Amino acid sequence: MIKLENISFDHCIKCTICTVYCPVARVTNMYPGPKHSGPDAERLRIKNPGLIDPSVKYCNNCKRCEIACPSDVNIATIIRNADSKISIKKIRIRDYIMSRTDFVGNLATKVSTIINALNSSLPVKVFLDLFLKISIKKTLPEYAYGTFRQWYKHQSKYQTSYKENVVFFHGCYVNFNDHELGKDAIKLLNSINIGVFITKEKCCGVPMIANGYIKRARKNAKHNIKTLTEATKNKKSKIVVTSSTCAFALKQEYPELLGVKNDTIADRIEYITTYIYRKFRKCDTPPMKPLNITAAYHPPCHLERLGSAVYTKELLKIIPGLNLKVLHSECCGISGTYGFKKEYYPISQKIGENLFRQIDSINPDIVITDCETCKWQIEMNTSFEVVHPVTLLARSIL
Ligand code: SF4
Ligand code: SF4
Repeated sequence: MIKLENISFDHCIKCTICTVYCPVARVTNMYPGPKHSGPDAERLRIKNPGLIDPSVKYCNNCKRCEIACPSDVNIATIIRNADSKISIKKIRIRDYIMSRTDFVGNLATKVSTIINALNSSLPVKVFLDLFLKISIKKTLPEYAYGTFRQWYKHQSKYQTSYKENVVFFHGCYVNFNDHELGKDAIKLLNSINIGVFITKEKCCGVPMIANGYIKRARKNAKHNIKTLTEATKNKKSKIVVTSSTCAFALKQEYPELLGVKNDTIADRIEYITTYIYRKFRKCDTPPMKPLNITAAYHPPCHLERLGSAVYTKELLKIIPGLNLKVLHSECCGISGTYGFKKEYYPISQKIGENLFRQIDSINPDIVITDCETCKWQIEMNTSFEVVHPVTLLARSIL
């Protein structure tokens, strides 16, 4: 049965702007583009659910089509829904492993030195390429030793002395790969007298959505909404998020794609630069030292969709001595787990080519981006250090 909330495809006026903006359709003729795979094909799929063209798998869920659409058609959501119906019929070990970031991260961080050495060794990369179809050319992300949550346990007592507080949704990246980003976020928030608490969160579910495990993603979404609602109901605190993709999932993908209501917390979820920018404007900006560097800023796709990239740009402009070069807004190509997969790796690289060229031509001291996978993609394809805007702000705070 057609649900009323799912009929946005009927608002399509066939202008094809979405196809012009689709980074995948631009670089391969294997993918017919968002208009065809989204609203056009949905009309047929509603009549006959068996009519799902496997080319929907080429969509990397960057959401650039939705940003461009003048009729507010949920194009990428329509395509993801169709894709998930194919995916559940075909379980692939690689996609299963890539979607279980909590499970894999908890294991890997216990023996991170061994895992990092193995992941960069040629025999393991050959094995992963041949048997799991994870591209041999892709640099695999490094794991930290232990988890951010373990570090935070010793910190929690220092966070109770602040007048205001926030709940920090740290995401898998901070927990398993980059504790420093989590520490920088706490340093920054503490510098404006805000205490930081965490809850028993689970993976936001985006890797599951990307690999077709919608039911599992829904389960995580329900858990996260429940724990975040409980954690904020008395204190009315905001929920700040350092990953642009996690923020996008909590705020928009949960209700739109997973059908999980988030109205109990939706207006409390803020991407961290949005929250900090507003706070900086309300109270005194903390003392900052000049950095005297040139930085190129890459706004990630999901942050653009969320409408928060403007806050990151404005916040970065506050850093003294920062010569900020904002890059042309475009997809870097990695799109979470997409760019690791052997069959999509060449497409992913081709999508990012123009961005890498832009960065090289600026020759900055550093590159800034809000998304962890964009960071991996840019670091692999250029020679520059890539940091989160929060890390750069933390470096500037005295
Ligand atoms: S989400 Fe991105 S890749 Fe998918 S159809 Fe839209 S623009 Fe193209
Ligand atoms: S941009 Fe929107 S209205 Fe235009 S073709 Fe694409 S889905 Fe239809």
